[in-house]
Amino acid sequence: MEYAIETMGLTKDYKGFLANDHVDIKVPKGSIFGLIGRNGAGKTTFMKLVLGFNNKTSGTIAINGHTKESELWKERGHIGSIIEVPAFYDEMSAYANALYYAKLHGKGRKDVERVLKKVGLDGVKRRRVKAFSLGMRQKLGIACSLLGEPDILMLDEPTNGLDPVAIAEIRKLLEDLKRDGVTIFISSHILSEMEKIATDYAFMLEGRVVRSFTAQELKDSGKDLETYFLEVVGGDANV
Ligand code: ATP
Repeated sequence: MEYAIETMGLTKDYKGFLANDHVDIKVPKGSIFGLIGRNGAGKTTFMKLVLGFNNKTSGTIAINGHTKESELWKERGHIGSIIEVPAFYDEMSAYANALYYAKLHGKGRKDVERVLKKVGLDGVKRRRVKAFSLGMRQKLGIACSLLGEPDILMLDEPTNGLDPVAIAEIRKLLEDLKRDGVTIFISSHILSEMEKIATDYAFMLEGRVVRSFTAQELKDSGKDLETYFLEVVGGDANV
């Protein structure tokens, strides 16, 4: 099995507090991987370590099989990501915002047209971002992250705060990207939504991975994701 992302013993120590504690996660290429955990479990920390926003304390990170620091940075160039809320210039149109990101990646107008179409924003591309709903902003964020033609997409809570229609649209978009061969890593606590799209999961609790399984294994267990999560994680009320 080839992994887009693989961590071994990944640890982040914030002055004695282990936000990630020997995290082993394997994200198969072409999967939609759901990292699930309660607030403060360490999901964002994990994503920031993989993306290089934060330095690990110890452990190994492999992206597309590369572990050397210089090679890792090259691989990170092929990861699209949205951590927390995507930042845009509200007074500028969606098109102008995307064009700005395109230029940063050495891309042009054709690429902007392509990604806006991909996320279904071509009809509203001339509108200022300040008139955009949260769902439209999220789509614009994904569009911009696609400008670098990533083979991995890392999204932190992509459907948080969105209405059911926007959630369904984002789901369709992610499934579409998966068909294009993009590996998608999502952190979330919207279990019903994750269950609809994820192919692989890990539960995180207090900085540790407490369970890893595939969608098939979940199906074979006869449990739904919420029941399983509550069974494994739910008893611990102080997380
Ligand atoms: P949420 O779902 O709320 O986003 P999360 O699972 O993404 O939570 P993290 O943001 O990774 O959790 O935080 C994990 C823990 O690490 C939290 O207890 C947080 O307070 C702590 N933490 C995160 N960043 C720092 C930091 N820079 N310094 C000290 N502690 C931190």
